[in-house]
Amino acid sequence: MSAKIIDGKAISAAVKEQVRAEIERDKLNVGLAVVIVGDDPASRVYVNNKKKACELCGIKSFEYALPADCSEEQLLELVDTLNNDSSVNGILVQLPLPSHLDEKRVIERISPIKDVDAFHESNVGKIMIGNYSFLPCTPAGCMELIHSTGIDVAGKECVVIGRSNIVGKPMAMLLLHENGTVTVCHSKTKNLAEVCSRADILVAAVGRPNFVTADMVKEGAVVIDVGINRLETGSLCGDVKFDEVSEKAGWITPVPGGVGPMTIAMLMRNTVTACRIQSK
Ligand code: NDP
Repeated sequence: MSAKIIDGKAISAAVKEQVRAEIERDKLNVGLAVVIVGDDPASRVYVNNKKKACELCGIKSFEYALPADCSEEQLLELVDTLNNDSSVNGILVQLPLPSHLDEKRVIERISPIKDVDAFHESNVGKIMIGNYSFLPCTPAGCMELIHSTGIDVAGKECVVIGRSNIVGKPMAMLLLHENGTVTVCHSKTKNLAEVCSRADILVAAVGRPNFVTADMVKEGAVVIDVGINRLETGSLCGDVKFDEVSEKAGWITPVPGGVGPMTIAMLMRNTVTACRIQSK
């Protein structure tokens, strides 16, 4: 069989259009501050894409670029300033940070009601108990992509490869909230191919190019490829070996054009949510 492509570009455009229309309709003043430290080229691309999405949606974006050798105190002071700035509804510190800076400490300093990435411990805890304001953008985007297939998660075998705090773990939690039967795999998992091949919904968040091969995929499965890997040739590829897996899966996301654009669209949605919470 040949899989249907889940078009993350089109779905993210629709989400951004909803956000834009909502901001216009309700005459909201929404602001997002993006903090970038150093000059990592990938981070620069992400930040530029986020700024573009803000423009499209009618969200004011404020960029703060700090030098790679800035001190942790400098960065924390900036976060404090943004926490107290009422024109800033969302604060995003682009990760990864240079190694001398403590990411955890910086994230914990962001006011939870402005934490549009949903990385703050209090937001993570809320996701765990299913009583949340924000969902982390990438897993939330994956859920939108799964919903777009019309397949009901309830009762499905769901396998997530990867257990990071920003993708794998919250992804598993969101699938569980929708009553999936969820297995989380990681580098110590035994018989990975066999476990994955039971999945009706397979989410790959490994960070290894072409890691998921056709033998790991059930016929007709929904395959969500979170991976963004840059090859030596300079081109991007996902964690899933697209050519062979797309012959077997029922639905598949491409890379690029799958999860990536959804992450940004969900950030726009979270920023509007933050604005509404703060105006209450
Ligand atoms: P991490 O490196 O934090 O986590 C990778 C996970 O994969 C770990 O849990 C690791 O297991 C697991 N893993 C590694 N090797 C194997 C293996 N051989 N078998 C099974 N599991 C393995 O990555 P992230 O979660 O941050 O990101 C994953 C990918 O998603 C990356 O390519 C990243 O670029 C991409 N990404 C894409 C986003 C988007 O917007 N599309 C947003 C965020 C990330 P263990 O815990 O045991 O080490």
